[in-house]
Amino acid sequence: MSHPEANCVFCKIVAGTLPAARVLETGEVLAFLDIGPLAPGHTLVIPKAHYTNLPTLPDEVAAALGAVLPRVCRAVVAATGAEGLNVLSNTGAVAGQSVEHVHWHVIPRRFQDGIAWPWRPLTYADGELEAMRRRIACELSG
Ligand code: AMP
Ligand code: ZN
Repeated sequence: MSHPEANCVFCKIVAGTLPAARVLETGEVLAFLDIGPLAPGHTLVIPKAHYTNLPTLPDEVAAALGAVLPRVCRAVVAATGAEGLNVLSNTGAVAGQSVEHVHWHVIPRRFQDGIAWPWRPLTYADGELEAMRRRIACELSG
């Protein structure tokens, strides 16, 4: 397992020194709401250990991430009423990766939602992020 990186925003979230709207935590994986969502309920799924991107992940860490992804997807759909999802991981600045701690985006989609390249992040209004966090966490606790 790799060490936390002092300047990594997601390592700080894992360590609890930076707040996040957490929806699921296992021994190896953390899921939390994206602070700049493309749609309400946009969730990130990360390994707790610091790895830069998908190609550098050891098989066992990838397996732990993959094992929770379908469950997180079901919870996001149930909590948001999404008609579909995009699940993706950007690798490298050229592909739009801005945080160098590997993460899967789980993005709720609706027909005609206007989501397209380039992404246009939204901001949550007061109370909306916590309400969404509760809805998805509730789906995951069942
Ligand atoms: P990427 O551009 O694929 O590296 O995605 C990084 C994502 O992390 C972006 O969608 C950001 O909105 C999100 N992000 C950055 N900082 C935070 C944070 N402190 N809490 C939650 N999400 C964050
Ligand atoms: Zn990190």
